[in-house]
Amino acid sequence: MSYLELRGVSKSYGTGAAEVHALADVNLAVEKGSLVAVMGPSGSGKSTLLTIAGSLEEPTSGEVVIDGDPLSSMSRSDKARLRRRTIGYFFQDFNLLAGLTATENVALPLELDGVSGRSASRMAAAVLADLGMADRGGHYPDELSGGERQRAAIARAIVGERSLLLADEPSGALDSINGESVMRMILNACRRGVTAVVVTHDAQLASWADRVVFIRDGRIVDQTVPPPSPEALLADAPAPRR
Ligand code: ADP
Repeated sequence: MSYLELRGVSKSYGTGAAEVHALADVNLAVEKGSLVAVMGPSGSGKSTLLTIAGSLEEPTSGEVVIDGDPLSSMSRSDKARLRRRTIGYFFQDFNLLAGLTATENVALPLELDGVSGRSASRMAAAVLADLGMADRGGHYPDELSGGERQRAAIARAIVGERSLLLADEPSGALDSINGESVMRMILNACRRGVTAVVVTHDAQLASWADRVVFIRDGRIVDQTVPPPSPEALLADAPAPRR
């Protein structure tokens, strides 16, 4: 079943001669628990796609459906709850707060959602441990390496019951080893049921995804075909001879 669907989504900015069509009739269905990578040149609409999928902006036309619920039929408070509780955002300009430790940064979205401080810290520590940061939670961002900061930001995006991860260049500014470990973490989250859409410039990292979608001038121009499941291959195999 699709967890996230964009149906005929268009987004224009400006009017008249200055009008920019950032997205034009985008259709995208992302299966629950799958990882979709989005690639395309600068200015092709990748960030716009993420912000609209994350209900941070409204499409000019078309519909976004999350877990069967069209965003257009949700009240403002329903959408706010969705953003607080269900969607994890990893955006380049959304840094860790310098005055909070890694654990406190990861716990913050839970606390803002009303989870008690103690439970929030426990959940934050568990996610950090999953990401190989068990002994780094008490450190402040400026005491962490770039890769560790990136991991803490991923932890903040997937902590709690979050089930949709939207990430813009999660491996940006990382070397290839750290970039791969970030993709591996996202893939592990997907195997636990999180649905993820990840924008990346790096074809090597995109190859970790279940499907790669290519976008140009606001349109999806191509996508990779998901590899067949082992079950499907067996179903197609000729019956063994006796
Ligand atoms: P990408 O993430 O692929 O670099 P964007 O989604 O940021 O592309 O942008 C797609 C197009 O929409 C670009 O032409 C960009 O200039 C334009 N755009 C994006 N956001 C805005 C905005 N807030 N106001 C006006 N134009 C915008």
